Amino acid sequence: MWEESVRVPYYFTPGLDNNRKDAFREAVRRWAASTCILLVETTPDPKMSVEVGNFKSNSCWSDLGYNPWFSNYGWVHQLNLGWCNNMMYLGSMIHEIGHLVGMNHEQKRPDAVESYHGHGPYLKMHWGNIPTDWRPQYELDRKSYVGSADDGPRDPLRAMSTTIMEASCIIPVGMPLTPWIQGNEIW
Ligand SMILES: [Zn+2]
Repeated sequence: MWEESVRVPYYFTPGLDNNRKDAFREAVRRWAASTCILLVETTPDPKMSVEVGNFKSNSCWSDLGYNPWFSNYGWVHQLNLGWCNNMMYLGSMIHEIGHLVGMNHEQKRPDAVESYHGHGPYLKMHWGNIPTDWRPQYELDRKSYVGSADDGPRDPLRAMSTTIMEASCIIPVGMPLTPWIQGNEIW
C-alpha cells in the first residue's frame, strides 16, 4: 500500500444491490493495491463526491475526470454500473474507475495518430476497417490527459502520469483530484 494516497470520495445510490456494491468495492481494492488512487466510500454527499449506481441498465460508463463545473451547478459525478452488475464484470469496473480519475482510451490521446510535442504518432489507423458508428471511439480527443510536465512538488498533476502505476503520488491526503478535462460520459 502507498503511504500517501489520492483520495476520491464516492457513495453508492441508496438501495443499490449488494452484487454491484461488493464487486465495485473489490475494484476499489485492486486500484488501491497497485496505485496511489484510493476511493473512499462515504455517506451520500453530492459535494465533491462521486455517485456509483445503476442509472442506465443497458450500459456501463463513467464521467471522465473531475469537473469543477459539476459542483458549481450542483451536479454529481456519476459512475454507472448498469450491466456491470456482479463480480464477472470486475475488469470493466476497474476500467471505469480509470475513466473516473481522468484516463481516456489510449487511441484517443493527442499523440495516438498525430505527432504531439515531439511524441507520436504511435498508431497507424486502418480507417477502412472501422465501421462508421465506431469511428468516434478512435478519433483523438485533444483534452485527453497525457501526463504532467512536472512543475515541481506542488504540481497536482504530477501524481497522474500516463503510466499510473508509476505515479509519484505527491498529492496530499484529502486533496480532491485536479480538474484537467471536461467531464463527459465515457465507456
Ligand atoms: Zn472505456
